[in-house]
Amino acid sequence: MTATARPALDVAAIRREFPILATEARGRPLVYLDSAATSQKPRSVVEALSDFYLTSNSNVHRSVHHLAERATTAFESARARVARFVGAPAPECVVWTRGTTEALNLVANAWGSRNVGPGDAILLTEMEHHANLVPWQMLAKRTGARLRFVPVTDDGRLDLEAAHARLAERPKVFAFTAKSNVLGTENPVAGLCRAARAAGTVTVVDGAQALPHGPVDVTALGCDFFAFSGHKALGPMGVGALVCRREMYDAMDPWQGGGEMIRRVRLEESTYAEAPIRFEAGTPAAADAVALAAALDFLERCDPAAVHAHEVRLTAIAMEALRPLGVRILGPEDPADRAGIVTFDVPGLHPHDVATLLDGRGIAVRAGHHCAQPLMKRFGVVATTRASFYLYNTEDEAAALADGVRAAVEYFRR
Ligand code: PLP
Repeated sequence: MTATARPALDVAAIRREFPILATEARGRPLVYLDSAATSQKPRSVVEALSDFYLTSNSNVHRSVHHLAERATTAFESARARVARFVGAPAPECVVWTRGTTEALNLVANAWGSRNVGPGDAILLTEMEHHANLVPWQMLAKRTGARLRFVPVTDDGRLDLEAAHARLAERPKVFAFTAKSNVLGTENPVAGLCRAARAAGTVTVVDGAQALPHGPVDVTALGCDFFAFSGHKALGPMGVGALVCRREMYDAMDPWQGGGEMIRRVRLEESTYAEAPIRFEAGTPAAADAVALAAALDFLERCDPAAVHAHEVRLTAIAMEALRPLGVRILGPEDPADRAGIVTFDVPGLHPHDVATLLDGRGIAVRAGHHCAQPLMKRFGVVATTRASFYLYNTEDEAAALADGVRAAVEYFRR
């Protein structure tokens, strides 16, 4: 996922597809720099969602009537769309979930409960989102496994030497983020998966921040599981997926029971459907899945590699303008290694005050611990301000961020 010289995105044309970006916030033109929390949605995604409900609404995989067939076809085509987008060999590799959090909980339960036992090591990193920490803590508590961590260096990268040393201890599983939601750091996923495979360690990649921002190919990455959320990638909230290497299904037990995931149910016991349906109990978010496919169509038309290059440019502009203001930017120095995410601390100012002053200028950023409290602790802060860019942001908006922070610094200095 590196930046390459490519034709620039037509940002003005892209922005026309996002009506919300033409609105105002606090009487000023909206500058939306919070896409790492959730992205805005293009017209085609909203239309796909409403179109499903207006023309195809029916439960999926259940009835034989015309609408049910239409809905099921659209839903299963969306699964195939996800598989193609992430380079999975077959639609069956995609399990629908509510998002990354549910996908990671699914692995920790369906695979973890069967394969992790007392004394086994679960390897994580210090830069994980709570969604890739808490499910493993719960698994460790249930099974008596030990948690181990790859440390983060001062410049916000994984300590790769330590990662390889920990992998040499042959942990059962290594769960790590492809891209930090705080530091923006893009981790060397393929190399880490290769080392894990050599150690007999199963890999779980948190792709929540990676998939929206660059091309993803799970086959080339060589991971066993890859989790992501639709809503950070132009899609609706409430849908995402766990992409599984097919062989992993043989080592997983169902984790939620109910309708759909069964083959035969008796009063005392049941047998289960084949994967991926085995892991999809209950009525799925069918309309959202279909709209997610529309989001991936949109992203692909924009060329994920061009999106990445655009974000590197905006990140560079923001970092260059912020540095002279005396702010501390967490994470790698090189914008190419952290596309789209600029998290910073303004000494003497509370991040919520910074965010509130920016909001007064119509600029939306996130302030807080970003669901990464251990990482905040690692860098000796309780909270930070995070600006995150996406394909629809402009160079002017990156500059507006720095102007806003400069004004905040001057306001509080007075
Ligand atoms: N992992 C990372 C790196 C994230 O940034 C997020 C959300 O911010 C998540 C996991 C959780 O995603 P969701 O809340 O969509 O399940």
